Amino acid sequence: MICPFCKKDNDKVVDSRAIGSYIRRRRECVECGHRFSTREYVELQPLTVIKRSGEREAFQREKLMKGIMNSCKKRPLSTSDIEQVAVNVENALTVTENFEVSYEQIGNLVMQELKKLDPVAYVRFASIYREFKEVGEFVDQIKSLDK
Ligand SMILES: [Zn+2]
Repeated sequence: MICPFCKKDNDKVVDSRAIGSYIRRRRECVECGHRFSTREYVELQPLTVIKRSGEREAFQREKLMKGIMNSCKKRPLSTSDIEQVAVNVENALTVTENFEVSYEQIGNLVMQELKKLDPVAYVRFASIYREFKEVGEFVDQIKSLDK
């Protein structure tokens, strides 16, 4: 693994932990001493998301994480809690036969997971999601509210 700080390829794994369906490895660069993490996921056929407009786009884990994180702002939740929501949602999505999912499915799954985890984050996500339906639009909206 190339170190993101000094760009040298000489690191050791200091911690390795399975979180749901992925493994997070904490690495330490032997050259500069900086620590960074990598994640290992099961590789599946990439998911396609069908928007309400009928357009298709590749599923983006980062986009999903951002949407969830914005709903969880200032809530007593750890990054692993939030990652677990994203992982659970993604796992539930990939069981569909043709690897195509709708925004609606994603939104509903996120709501289900957040409901179990934190009522405030759930209400935040649900109120905005129901109005905008698309996770992408939701993220954009939350960003503009922050300004
Ligand atoms: Zn380094």
